[in-house]
Amino acid sequence: MKRSLFLIATLFSLAACQNNSNPTNRVMAVQGIDSSINPGNNFFMYVNHIWYDTAQIPPSQSGVGAYMFMNYPQRLLLQGILDSVSKASNTAGSIEQKLGDFYASGMDTTTINGLGYDPIKPILSQIESISDIASLIRFVVSESKLENNSVLGFGVGPDNKNSELNIAHIYQTGIGLPERDYYFKTDPSSIGIQQAYKIYLATLFTLTGSDAATATKDADIVYNIEKQIASSHKTNIELRDVNANYNKMSVANLTKRQPNISWTNVLNDLGAKTDSIDVGQPAYYDKLNVLLQSIPINEWKIYLRAHSISNYDNVLSKPFVDAAFEFNKVLSGQAMQKTRGEIMASNVDRSLGQALGQLYVKKYFSEAAKKRALELVNNLQQALAARIDKLDWMSDSTKQKAKEKLFAMTKKIGYPDKWRDYSNVTVVKGNYFQNVVSAASGNYQYDLAKLNKPVDRTEWFTTPSTVTAYNNPSANEIVFPAAILQPPYFDNNADDALNYGGIGVVIGHEMTHTFDDQGAQFDKFGNVKNWWTTEDYKKFKAKTQQVVDLYNSFTELDTLHVKGAMTLGENTADIGGVSIAYDAFKMTKEGHDTTKLDGVYTPDQRFFISIAKIWRVKMKDQFLRYWINNNPHSPPMWRVNGPLMNTTPFYKAFNVQPGDSMYLPEKDRIHIW
Ligand SMILES: [Zn+2]
Repeated sequence: MKRSLFLIATLFSLAACQNNSNPTNRVMAVQGIDSSINPGNNFFMYVNHIWYDTAQIPPSQSGVGAYMFMNYPQRLLLQGILDSVSKASNTAGSIEQKLGDFYASGMDTTTINGLGYDPIKPILSQIESISDIASLIRFVVSESKLENNSVLGFGVGPDNKNSELNIAHIYQTGIGLPERDYYFKTDPSSIGIQQAYKIYLATLFTLTGSDAATATKDADIVYNIEKQIASSHKTNIELRDVNANYNKMSVANLTKRQPNISWTNVLNDLGAKTDSIDVGQPAYYDKLNVLLQSIPINEWKIYLRAHSISNYDNVLSKPFVDAAFEFNKVLSGQAMQKTRGEIMASNVDRSLGQALGQLYVKKYFSEAAKKRALELVNNLQQALAARIDKLDWMSDSTKQKAKEKLFAMTKKIGYPDKWRDYSNVTVVKGNYFQNVVSAASGNYQYDLAKLNKPVDRTEWFTTPSTVTAYNNPSANEIVFPAAILQPPYFDNNADDALNYGGIGVVIGHEMTHTFDDQGAQFDKFGNVKNWWTTEDYKKFKAKTQQVVDLYNSFTELDTLHVKGAMTLGENTADIGGVSIAYDAFKMTKEGHDTTKLDGVYTPDQRFFISIAKIWRVKMKDQFLRYWINNNPHSPPMWRVNGPLMNTTPFYKAFNVQPGDSMYLPEKDRIHIW
């Protein structure tokens, strides 16, 4: 069950029961600094070295620390909620009944293991009966309606050039490895991943009745088809170009261009009434059109068989779950499987997330946290407006437009005002597979119902219990779920230095996305439309190139370079986030103080120390490698040292001098926002 979203720049924690005590009286102690390290040489390790030496990665995880790894403790909280709701007696049809029975049916591994792969046998027979391209496409579409992508990536979302309206989108898909380059790289680590993937595919075949020799041969067939598909894929750097990935075409023209796909039938079968589609990556569908004819139907059937089993590997019996884990281990370095309870907490969050979110918010989120977070967001907005006024590279007319866009921004904090309705999902006791299928079908129909309808700007694209934040450029909005409002990002008991250096930096980061290489191409209404003077945009592009060049020079695992172009948007947001949060901090009472409130560090120092803590993550090498190849964010150390090298107040706070590793001459420091 794989869901996808359109162009959302995401950002990235225990119980979040804050109280109302007056934060200005509190100065929380800062601990764990390694004073043997010169902060000007490596500030990240000055703050975090001792933590890195002592933090233990749980065997069932690929890392530990802040950011996405805080979702592990979050899943334990969700598991607690689900455990208790599954034991209660709930009204039929209530969200409690759906959550409880969904979870309990997935926890019942005795029943699930007893069934083996029985639940997908009807799907496998459908594949058997495919006899030509038309019946192949019909099958692909039927699976798409259960959110199982094979060669068709379809979704409904805002039109990037008319952001009030939801339209049909199709995008590149069809591969099982994370990204196209995985098929073409020849270094030992990539070859290890390719081999592990083929073993995984072969295992899926043997578990569903093939002998070992056939399974190995079939795994090669699947891999070779995927490799041909991958050759038409855009790289994750090419996918950043907003205009190049917007190609609205009439269905009639698309049908002429790709006759083997018979788009009219596809859309009919999808239930999508439309005469035009935004084709994200036309080259992919051009290639698919050719491959449908050049690859024999029997090989396509093997490919579809692999993808269909793979889509359900976590829903079937233990051998399938084990096979998925063995492959994932190679990608992520995770040593041990997650517990069933943790897996189920994720699965429920994915299938019924907005229902689970309601129970989570009730138990773990306080309105006081929401109120203080909103204050911070408003202060950051003022700080960014003041910074825009002072920019030395931008004309007054573009400044005016930038501020209009900034103040038109929607701010969402905590949880949605309006919860999603799950009445189209039926959950029964004791049939996990059926529950998963019903939720997927319900989610598909929910999204499909938006086609050709006005965009609902109250909708959220993450669940409240997820530690993340995002900027959605097509709605000109920034979103901070309940779960990010907890330490180390936010503590209602902590002083301003820590909160501005924590959640303040996150807020500044999301605001800057509005003006990063992608965000800058959207206007205040969320449409891709130029609002810059030619001269200003040229200057902006030159500045972003400086960011690309600087981050290209950073390395991890000795030889791996950060991909400057792929991480440009996030790095721009990281640099902007620190500056905006610092200026907003300076608007507070504590920000004006220069005394060491805790007897050790000045407020400015505490602000910067907080930044180094919010991004610290200890990862398995395999996961770090995966991160550098795929994650649009720079690795943790560079999310801190990169921006601080460009932040003059940091130099003052820690007396950074020429000769220190992080020192950049003033003229070389990058200032965009
Ligand atoms: Zn971001």
